[in-house]
Amino acid sequence: MASSDWGYDGKNGPEQWSKLYPIANGNNQSPIDIKTSEAKRDTSLKPISVSYNPATAKEIVNVGHSFHVNFEDSNNQSVLKGGPLSDGYRLSQFHFHWGSTNDGGSEHTVDGVKYSGELHLVHWNSAKYPNIADAISKADGLAIIGVLMKLGQANPNLQKVLDALSSVKTKGKRAPFTNFDPSILLPASLDYWSYAGSLTHPPLHESVTWFICKESISVSPEQLAQFRSLLSSAEGETPVPILHNNRPPQPLKGRTVKASF
Ligand SMILES: [Zn+2]
Repeated sequence: MASSDWGYDGKNGPEQWSKLYPIANGNNQSPIDIKTSEAKRDTSLKPISVSYNPATAKEIVNVGHSFHVNFEDSNNQSVLKGGPLSDGYRLSQFHFHWGSTNDGGSEHTVDGVKYSGELHLVHWNSAKYPNIADAISKADGLAIIGVLMKLGQANPNLQKVLDALSSVKTKGKRAPFTNFDPSILLPASLDYWSYAGSLTHPPLHESVTWFICKESISVSPEQLAQFRSLLSSAEGETPVPILHNNRPPQPLKGRTVKASF
């Protein structure tokens, strides 16, 4: 398995990642199943808040296993603050995870319950590191907000993103994606569970302070089908749709999950 060959199926799937990325069996891997009765309510945990400048939205890119919406992050225009974070964390990109069928697709689960998808907003510690490339492997380098997506009504706030997918159908394609405030994707409440974890795909660095929102957002079957219509193949190759891109929950290994509520 070459490093560019990791994927979500069979011989390249999550069970094989540890061959090239031994940290896959590490002590702080993500995602996890959040057992709500074992989450520790921490009254000292401050709320989190985001301040995103729509002008920092930059482009949408098909990265082969998913797509990213990238943001200008050379200064503190779009930031996440609060919770246990000591300083501001800058928004770099957001992306989604989904499943082959509507009854799964989230990475985190809550009391064993799978959701149909999951949104990740990826931020990096700009007080301490010069860029995300430096931050990505540091224990305090990243902070990701995870939002579970529950099957239901079509979510109008997803539409601009979904409509842009046709312009980045194949791997490696990129298109401008501007004037977008990703806070419209967040649930009304930012109550969260937080724990120390990792990137959920290679290189799987254990560098992430996770904030999983208690409240989910909705996604319709038709919208999930739009995610699955994206291709992992490059232009001119036999079309291969990205049917799923979610890693299963990993062992907690003694970690504490804190609840802000
Ligand atoms: Zn993710």
